Amino acid sequence: MMLRCGIDLGGTKTEGVILDADGREVFRERVATDSSSYETVLGGIERLYRRMVSDVRGAPHTLGLGTPGAVSRRTGMLKNSNTTCLNGTPIARDLPARLGRALAIENDANCFALAETLHGAGRGHRVVFGVILGTGCGGGIVIDGRVHAGLQSIAGEWGHSVIDPAGPVCYCGARGCVETFISGSGLENRYAERTGSGRTAAEIIAAWRAGESQAAAAMDDYFARFGQALANLIAVLDPDIVVLGGGLSNVDELYTQGVEEIARRVFSDALETPVVRHRLGDSAGVIGAALVGR
Ligand SMILES: [Zn+2]
Repeated sequence: MMLRCGIDLGGTKTEGVILDADGREVFRERVATDSSSYETVLGGIERLYRRMVSDVRGAPHTLGLGTPGAVSRRTGMLKNSNTTCLNGTPIARDLPARLGRALAIENDANCFALAETLHGAGRGHRVVFGVILGTGCGGGIVIDGRVHAGLQSIAGEWGHSVIDPAGPVCYCGARGCVETFISGSGLENRYAERTGSGRTAAEIIAAWRAGESQAAAAMDDYFARFGQALANLIAVLDPDIVVLGGGLSNVDELYTQGVEEIARRVFSDALETPVVRHRLGDSAGVIGAALVGR
């Protein structure tokens, strides 16, 4: 009986899960990510993996790692990670060497999209676009139950498509990326720009619901950008369903006001694309990592 081990490397937390042959969870642990350097990230993954192996007494298993970014096919180095200390590092070579085994490395949003397709809100749909609205803004495409990674492993990376060339500077070097507007940090930064005061995304949303006009203006802009970004995506991929995950996907109004903003902009007589909330909660990324393992 083969177990499936998955590790989801996030910017703030790293999570490990082990699934048995029936897909049931037999292990789960969440630890803080120490992203002060490449070395501390590797060390954190290794310690978690060792605990996972000892928990199942070394039983045979596959292993998959979900991470922001992707391994460059050209150089073998990680690219496009918002945990920027990992960019340009040979993690795909160093990690198997440290762990003494092969593993699959897959983009975290692709892991999310795959898990929601096979076990969550996207079940039964042929073309699924999974969105992560978290600290950053990721996206993943699943077609016929398999991740579509693309020629350069950037398929679905809509967070770094530009919707305002005169917009805010993004860590990727461009201006006005989708991520700078509709990620959690994007919402916070745009609100701070507008008001001169710093608030968390949760505080901004609470203030908006309480009727504060500055917060309302920030949220109106947020939904408009969300609508523009998804209308653009739908015009390219025209998926059968869009599944939202990440902290901001729990904002109910995304599924009403947000969807109306997509419908207003979509290149179609009507918006038929279902835009739905995740079903696997915070677990989708790590379950997807377990599912892609080898
Ligand atoms: Zn960018």
